[in-house]
Amino acid sequence: MTPAGFAATNPDLAGRSVLVIGLGRSGRAAARLAASRSALVTCADSRKQLPAEALELQQSGIRVLAGGHTAELLSETGAELVVVSPGVRLDIDLVQVARERGIPVWGEIELAARYTRGRIIGITGSNGKSTVTTMVGNILRTAGIPGGTGGNLEIPLAELLEQDGEDAIHAVELSSFQLESVEALVPVVAVIVNLTPDHLDRYDSFDSYRRAKARLLEVQSGTRFSVLNADDPESQRFLPSVRGRLHLFSLESEPQAGAFVRDGMIMLRTAYGEETVLAADRLPLPGHHNLANGLAAALACRLAGCGIESIAGGLESYRPLAHRLQKVATVDGIDFYNDSKATNLDAVVQAIRSFRAGSVHLILGGKDKGGDWSALLPLLQERVRSVLLVGQAADRISRVLEGTVAHRNCVTVQAAVRSGFQDARPGDVVLLSPGCASFDQYSGFEARGDDFIAAVGALAGRGRGHA
Ligand code: ADP
Repeated sequence: MTPAGFAATNPDLAGRSVLVIGLGRSGRAAARLAASRSALVTCADSRKQLPAEALELQQSGIRVLAGGHTAELLSETGAELVVVSPGVRLDIDLVQVARERGIPVWGEIELAARYTRGRIIGITGSNGKSTVTTMVGNILRTAGIPGGTGGNLEIPLAELLEQDGEDAIHAVELSSFQLESVEALVPVVAVIVNLTPDHLDRYDSFDSYRRAKARLLEVQSGTRFSVLNADDPESQRFLPSVRGRLHLFSLESEPQAGAFVRDGMIMLRTAYGEETVLAADRLPLPGHHNLANGLAAALACRLAGCGIESIAGGLESYRPLAHRLQKVATVDGIDFYNDSKATNLDAVVQAIRSFRAGSVHLILGGKDKGGDWSALLPLLQERVRSVLLVGQAADRISRVLEGTVAHRNCVTVQAAVRSGFQDARPGDVVLLSPGCASFDQYSGFEARGDDFIAAVGALAGRGRGHA
């Protein structure tokens, strides 16, 4: 079989056989999109039991297979295009064989990008993607610009296209996994918030992780805009990949073109000249890192053509996301913060720095992602009163902390909350910022954060002596 290529935009899928691997929300959206273009769609998922949403696809004439996805499916379906969900590794047999046969392999983003009529502000980075993406989304909404907010965040791009049109601008979060195979997605503004080691359990090296993120810049041209973090040393290594017009954001300097803070005001310097956006303390989020996120979002939106007033209004009215340095309650003068989304060490560092030195009782642990815990030691010694360990990583972290920082293995988040409550004094903070994935004990970071919130709720009304 000689597989025919597909046009870069709006390819004709009518009557073509499309094989979708993985039936999470992205895979399902991709399958529906392909079916809506009259493709013959088969979906396969490794799970034996599929959720009802996946089985419902059959009502749209889509063939749904559970319990595996071997390379034989390629011949059996006569696949002319393979679409893989973000959770599926690209080194599986089926993908390798498809590539050997010259069958295109796209991610859901790549498929959706080919049908997008509006423009995309694409956002990636190690930490802060969701925060910046939702800030951008809020600014675009405030400006009355049609479009949606999604990508790696709740609503897949293929689903966002329901709100698409030529005047739309979409705020799209992109994970490194989604970027690995991207070609057709060309954002009008590409933002890389920062780069710190993460997902070392999935990537062979930090370098391959960085190369995946660099794709977002490499697909651009000189008519587009690239936004990078001037304060992040690792981000400087993206410079050779920049093809668009470079703009920087910084809390430490005033870039020639970009966003910065002067005399407490968020400022922009772009082709529109130098403009004042908003007082930095009007941002409804704690922490320096969130101010940096605000700069990135403001800059991206200005470069996409939003007015200054909408940018200021969108930043000020932003509603922080749950599980990111979320204040849960104050009980007996002790503050409880849920930062369950902090699944790598840099996020933990930013969280610790957001509170007064010596006030933090830190809940750390979960499913280890292979980070270097010893790098955290100086900051823990300087600013943290005690570390409460949970989950699988507890022993590994405990060995690093031995003899330097007060710590105790509490095993569960519930026990850690009670223990932190007993140790803490009024004015202290009990902070869940675990630096690990949650999958050893939970279905995801949301469930872990909810467990923390419930444990804090159970403390209210109980004397500290009885906690
Ligand atoms: P992502 O989508 O990249 O995971 P989130 O906005 O969901 O990013 O935040 C994830 C974690 O990183 C949270 O713990 C949050 O407090 C922290 N964080 C947010 N922005 C930054 C930043 N600019 N630098 C470092 N950590 C950040």
